[in-house]
Amino acid sequence: MAYRVEVQKDLCISSGKCVSDGPKVFRFDDQELAEPISETTEYELQSLLKLARNCPGEAITIFAESGEIIDHS
Ligand code: SF4
Repeated sequence: MAYRVEVQKDLCISSGKCVSDGPKVFRFDDQELAEPISETTEYELQSLLKLARNCPGEAITIFAESGEIIDHS
């Protein structure tokens, strides 16, 4: 199943946690703020939820393909 991941960049404190723990899902933009690598990901849901919950800025939200919010950090 595919999920959509969103980073609220105004909440990102550039900790790098999501980028180092989920390098297939997140990367830094040219301002050192995290962003999803692609619009949707098939990364395992439990791992996505862990990445969201470990974000110190509470900036990550996981959506189902339907648009429903699965988790907000
Ligand atoms: S874990 Fe959160 S605060 Fe840290 S880089 Fe990722 S989105 Fe930004």
